[in-house]
Amino acid sequence: MAPAPTADELREKYAAERAKRLRADGNDQYIEASGVFADYVDDPYTDVTPRAAVIDTPDTACDVAFVGAGFSGLVAGASLKSAGINQVRLIDTAGDVGGTWYWNRYPGAQCDTASLIYLPLLEETGYFPSEKYVKGPEIHAHCQRIANHFGLYDDALLSTRVTGARWDAEHHQWMITTDRGDEVRARHMGIGTGPLSKPKLPGLPGITDFAGASFHTSRWDYSVTGGSPDGGPMDLLADKRVGIIGTGATAVQCIPHLGRAAGELFVFQRTPSSIDIRNNHALDPDELAPDLGPGWQRRWRENFTVLQTGGFADRDLVRDGWTDIAQRIRDKVLEHPERSGPEALVAAYHESDDEKMNEIRSRVDDVVSDPATAEALKPWYRQLCKRPCFHDDYLDTYNRSNVHLVDTDGRGVESVTERGVIAAGREWELDVLIFASGFEVGTEFTRRAGVDPVGRDGLTLSAAWADGMVSFHGMHVHGFPNMYVIGHAQGANLISNVPHNLVEAAATMAAVIAHADARAATEVEVTATAEAEWVDLLDAGGRSFGGDPTCTPGYYNNEGQEASGAQRRAGLGHPDGPVAYFNYIDQWRSTGEFTGLQFR
Ligand code: NDP
Repeated sequence: MAPAPTADELREKYAAERAKRLRADGNDQYIEASGVFADYVDDPYTDVTPRAAVIDTPDTACDVAFVGAGFSGLVAGASLKSAGINQVRLIDTAGDVGGTWYWNRYPGAQCDTASLIYLPLLEETGYFPSEKYVKGPEIHAHCQRIANHFGLYDDALLSTRVTGARWDAEHHQWMITTDRGDEVRARHMGIGTGPLSKPKLPGLPGITDFAGASFHTSRWDYSVTGGSPDGGPMDLLADKRVGIIGTGATAVQCIPHLGRAAGELFVFQRTPSSIDIRNNHALDPDELAPDLGPGWQRRWRENFTVLQTGGFADRDLVRDGWTDIAQRIRDKVLEHPERSGPEALVAAYHESDDEKMNEIRSRVDDVVSDPATAEALKPWYRQLCKRPCFHDDYLDTYNRSNVHLVDTDGRGVESVTERGVIAAGREWELDVLIFASGFEVGTEFTRRAGVDPVGRDGLTLSAAWADGMVSFHGMHVHGFPNMYVIGHAQGANLISNVPHNLVEAAATMAAVIAHADARAATEVEVTATAEAEWVDLLDAGGRSFGGDPTCTPGYYNNEGQEASGAQRRAGLGHPDGPVAYFNYIDQWRSTGEFTGLQFR
């Protein structure tokens, strides 16, 4: 076995691999799935059934309308109902609740964060997940369970796209229009449209020329492949030449299934993902019983977040690849008591990362038999430069004789033809072309959300955020009374377990509205001063999810280009990190003072 590369050799190799992938067009290499590409985002899973439009008057306004029926809308709805705010109307383009887990039905879809902390409201709904990392259908079923448990289907408008939202100052209500002719009125409006909800396509010359079947992974076309999200065999692919563009977290999960089903599978790779061990297993509630006393899910979530963000706890309840990354850094710090200050942490991070990535690269050699294929599957960057992946079948798939890795040495697929794609210097003929090309990140919020709310005095959110997101706690925006953004940006900004951000935000939203109702206030708005002070605090802290510009390009680091001011603002988080934010917001809600908000 060759000796492990030295730290200097690694730095050099990482820089060379990054240089191959840097492109002048950055994010603009991708195209929006609209216009001639609009059918890439149609809903393939639910037929739209005719219904009468909802036409509200000021007297029939609901308590809360919520744009988005994914985890954000579901946890917000649950918190609101639990706080006695009963008329909650979820509105979503999808034909059912579930958001990400409604759309992403590709074979092998599974959560990458342990289900005991990833699935919200387990205690409240009395559900215990079957595995440490559960599969997509089980997650979608849990979304439906939440909606049923909290009565969120009753007023939901599904297969319905919001086309506009305007503040009606006279009646202190939001007026929301939809593509189904609805005129919904609501005292309060939430927006929770998710960070990765708008599919994007690579802007390849000739992309419309392909004569075979093609689709994006978030709109899996089982009428082309056969099979089902539950793992039914994709028997229609048995005599097909299938190509997949992309090797990110989505592709890693579906490629093993395609490898088993396709006559021939061609994986077009620009940058390999890091594939760590998955080690999934069934969960036994009896075995875990001592750690499942009342309030357990909150304790588990907090334990994970403390450890994953570098803090200390007596025990690691979740014990997974995410907490392992942090544990290794802590171990390195303790190994070198002679070091101190921030440099000690940076050195510990670099050393533990080098070790981890060497392990990940060795695993490729251990699993993949063909040495050239193994070499091409090795990631040459720091683990957190891109989304870390965890899978126990992905690498082995390349040992199948019908699976072909088409490595492009960082160049990617060059163009699409009527017959297939051009990559690595030749044409590859295909019957089916699958785009595992990800989702928009770094484009304007209102473009991704699909709605540009018009607040007080005709101010649009896109105008208010022309220079980037400005908010109080990531939730309240001056000029937009009774509007609540549910997400992670400008709050905790915890990426490794997104639902933790959402559960906390939902609790905050419910507490604010309950407080407004208790004092019969019809308007809640953040003051300009409180908003500016919050943004200044975050700006000064400099903690922004913009990734490391020295990393290989990807959506984590704005495709390797320096982030604009607006992009940096959209990635800001609390200066002292997620745990500090969660503690802060818990206290802010609990005092009952809601400092920074005006109740009128
Ligand atoms: P990504 O944006 O991570 O991946 C897009 C892929 O397309 C990359 O491999 C990219 O290569 C590749 N690509 C783009 N253009 C070309 C081209 N011209 N030729 C070849 N390849 C190309 O999207 P995903 O859908 O995989 O994942 C998005 C995010 O969704 C994840 O990061 C994760 O946060 C989330 N996710 C979560 C899961 C979970 O929790 N279980 C599962 C799946 C996704 P390059 O790397 O070179 O840019």
